[in-house]
Amino acid sequence: MSLSKQDGTLKGFGMSGTRFNPVFSGLPTTIFTVMSSLAVEHKAINLGQGFPDEDGPLAIREAAAAALREGPNQYPPTRGLPALREAIAAHAKRFYGFDFDPERNVLVTSGGTEALTASILALAGEGGEVVLFEPAYDSYRPIALAAGAPVRSVKLAPPGWRLEEQALAEAITPKTRIVMLNTPLNPIGRVFDGNELAMMARVLARSEAVAICDEVYEHLVFDGRAHLPLIGFPGMEERVIRVGSAGKMFSLTGWKVGWVTGAVPLIDVIAKAHQFITFTTPPALQRGTAYALSNEMDFTLGLTRTLQDNRDLLADRLARMGFDVLPCEGTYFLTAGIGALTNERDDDFCRRLVREAGVALIPLSAFFETGEPSHLVRFAFCKKRGLLEEALDRLERFFCRTGARLMGT
Ligand code: PMP
Ligand code: GLN
Repeated sequence: MSLSKQDGTLKGFGMSGTRFNPVFSGLPTTIFTVMSSLAVEHKAINLGQGFPDEDGPLAIREAAAAALREGPNQYPPTRGLPALREAIAAHAKRFYGFDFDPERNVLVTSGGTEALTASILALAGEGGEVVLFEPAYDSYRPIALAAGAPVRSVKLAPPGWRLEEQALAEAITPKTRIVMLNTPLNPIGRVFDGNELAMMARVLARSEAVAICDEVYEHLVFDGRAHLPLIGFPGMEERVIRVGSAGKMFSLTGWKVGWVTGAVPLIDVIAKAHQFITFTTPPALQRGTAYALSNEMDFTLGLTRTLQDNRDLLADRLARMGFDVLPCEGTYFLTAGIGALTNERDDDFCRRLVREAGVALIPLSAFFETGEPSHLVRFAFCKKRGLLEEALDRLERFFCRTGARLMGT
């Protein structure tokens, strides 16, 4: 990473950085792509990049296929097909009791990624600062910097990864325009609780900032927890937008259908950015997603139970191998410490594991601007049980071979 620490400027880029946009020319390829390529090269089981190994319900894909055949296949409205906007508003009503007007409070985007990009571009502006919590999803910082917005990080600390009022209040200045909140949080599986969110709402209310809430894993919360959208907290209706993703809800990550919901002035300006990024999203996939939101939420809720079982299997067997397994409250991901197994940095360990054990993971340092902490790795468990077991068997065999202890066996 060659983006500098607190001031959002750039350091250490070469010749190309002077000719092209240094925000991008100075960046490496994303760790997800790097590890997925290594997984293919070494025929490894990919527990790195977060994608399910089973596509979501056939009926959803049939609905999209029928829409593709029957058409129309011309540009849909820039804010999204009315049927999908209605389904998004109905979903928000059903699960959280929110009253969103499909015409005015909903914008369909090409994935959560585009929703985030359009929102940051629209709401930050030159000189307006962006606050994010680390570990942070990797797209936030470069897009904020490309928008000309300096980034301030609030670093959460393991094992609890709690959001503290003092740290947040110190990061927010009169120039702060956006606070990025991702809950449930990729990569560490934190689901922020009511106390943390109420505190965040209080701090935000004293500022000039709005919150972009990346809630793409909203249904993937475990152990009977509730996902609480910040927009539902007092005073937050006008200050918060929610980002959702059909890919995560229905195990169709390649579809890239997402959305933003929120107050009219915010949606209006985000729609202006969206009209010049993608303008719109493929109509057949929008029709499929409208069908899914209206008819296939049982799949999503069932997926949560399956993933919780996968998490438990993974946590148990990794702990017996000597990993320091951290709590995982939601998402596709579990993190674990490697200190008892190796002295290597997480990225070196991951590169060795993919080659020698045949299992690909993601080093957690990739989600921190400073590259620290560097003793944690992320496992994606959105996989069939058999594949997960095979990956765990490979890891056990690897640690047996290389002499690491297998605790409890
Ligand atoms: N936010 C987070 C935290 C994610 O993990 C992802 C997954 N790629 C996204 C946003 C992007 O979602 P989408 O695939 O719908 O663009
Ligand atoms: N969200 C996925 C993850 O965290 C990656 C998506 C991507 O590769 N851009 O693994």
